Amino acid sequence: MVDWTYAPAPESAALANLAPTYRPFVDGAFVDGGGEALKTVNPATEEVLAEVGTASTEDVDRAVAAARRAQTEVWGPMPGAERAKHLFRIARIVAERARELAVLETLDNGKPIKESRDVDVPTASAHLFHHAGWADKLEHAGLGADPRPLGVVGAVIPWNFPLLMAVWKIAPALACGNTVVLKPAETTPLTALVLAEIAAEAGLPAGVLNVLPGAGDVGAALVRHPGLDKVAFTGSTEVGKEIQRTLAGTGRRLTLELGGKAANIVYDDAPLDQAVEGVVDGIFFNQGHVCCAGSRLLVQESIADEFEELLHRRIATLRVGDPLDKNTDVGAINSRPQLERIVDLAAAGDAEGAQRWTSPCPLPERGLFFPPTVFSGVEQSMRIAREEIFGPVLSVLTFRTPAEAVAKANNTPYGLSAGIWTDKGSKAMWTAQQLRAGVVWANTFNRFDPTAPFGGYRESGFGREGGRVGLEAYLAG
Ligand code: NDP
Repeated sequence: MVDWTYAPAPESAALANLAPTYRPFVDGAFVDGGGEALKTVNPATEEVLAEVGTASTEDVDRAVAAARRAQTEVWGPMPGAERAKHLFRIARIVAERARELAVLETLDNGKPIKESRDVDVPTASAHLFHHAGWADKLEHAGLGADPRPLGVVGAVIPWNFPLLMAVWKIAPALACGNTVVLKPAETTPLTALVLAEIAAEAGLPAGVLNVLPGAGDVGAALVRHPGLDKVAFTGSTEVGKEIQRTLAGTGRRLTLELGGKAANIVYDDAPLDQAVEGVVDGIFFNQGHVCCAGSRLLVQESIADEFEELLHRRIATLRVGDPLDKNTDVGAINSRPQLERIVDLAAAGDAEGAQRWTSPCPLPERGLFFPPTVFSGVEQSMRIAREEIFGPVLSVLTFRTPAEAVAKANNTPYGLSAGIWTDKGSKAMWTAQQLRAGVVWANTFNRFDPTAPFGGYRESGFGREGGRVGLEAYLAG
């Protein structure tokens, strides 16, 4: 194997235009929040990036009232073609400020710059363009002759794709004539606040979009607010269940995009080199902080040894380190609690008898990092086969027949995504039909497109985001 050495190619942190302080965005202006300010840190260095004002319960009331007023007086009655202009403008400014947003996302989240630059920001902009296109065509969406907005949407999002998750909720909600109060994750509030600045720059009327930074208590105050018509949540299954309990019987609409434990099935007739790339991308993209990550590799027993050897060889070439370096493949773990959770679950894998393989890659001396890790000999009963690790840890199980592959893939309380690798189209189609997952990729993985609906079954939640079907979650028929 060629031992490549790479000269560092760091992107400049100055491109992020970091401000020393950020504030909540309510009714068209940045305001002093009534909550205690938080410090957001760069997980690659654990240095403080900025101080962020947070929302109090009164700020939640104010934001919901502003969103209501904007919805009934301005945004709801506005013709779709006019709403579209605002969304197109926001989409264009996101694209124009892509480099700044990518660097800011990488600083706040720890993800490699090549991912924020090539995936997060362009996909966010694409979602805005896509939904801008829908705003004046809703009566042709197949959802009734005169679809109406729901009203005010409360959106709560996680830290793994901070800008993209904000846009996944804001773009369809606004296109359909709703207004939004958004609560970003405590550890990654910055890009959502820059998005608010962009919305203001694009002339979005006051109150149409409000952003309330803060911890889980702000999210909880928002989702139980009686002034909302709908809640859209992405995050853990545990918090999703709590929100569902809060909303039960209120008549408010709810969509939940929760965890996953996706199977990536590799049949013995698969093109192995491509499958290796897909499996690596499936679990190490975004440090494995991905709800649809292919965290369970199911490989056919006859090729298991050969495949694992190829996999180890490929994984050993992944470069772990400075997220701002354009050569970096695997960046920092987003927070210390998340790193501890990954360490604990990996230790459970050892204790339950799986064999751990760790990439020999060097790790930076400071910051929050975890090396790419593969557990082989994993049994279905083990915690590392059942629980969402949400980190760069792959669990390898084997199967002998397609029926066994399907049975094992479906043996999970989740149902978000799955992958299939085979040379035979008929086998891919048969397997996809048997899998109980909202998204099934064949001979590829982690493909996201604004036209394709995304969402899960069972403990992965309900409702779809993206595409024509995704509009349904924001319209009353
Ligand atoms: P959470 O579900 O706690 O966080 C998601 C969002 O909900 C955050 O904005 C959070 O705020 C907010 N929140 C927390 N508690 C409440 C509440 N009671 N009511 C309303 N909103 C609330 O995920 P974590 O960040 O704690 O991650 C824990 C685990 O969840 C991960 O290890 C992973 O397994 C899973 N996860 C799955 C994700 C997915 O995409 N499916 C995304 C993120 C996590 P705050 O950030 O301040 O806590």
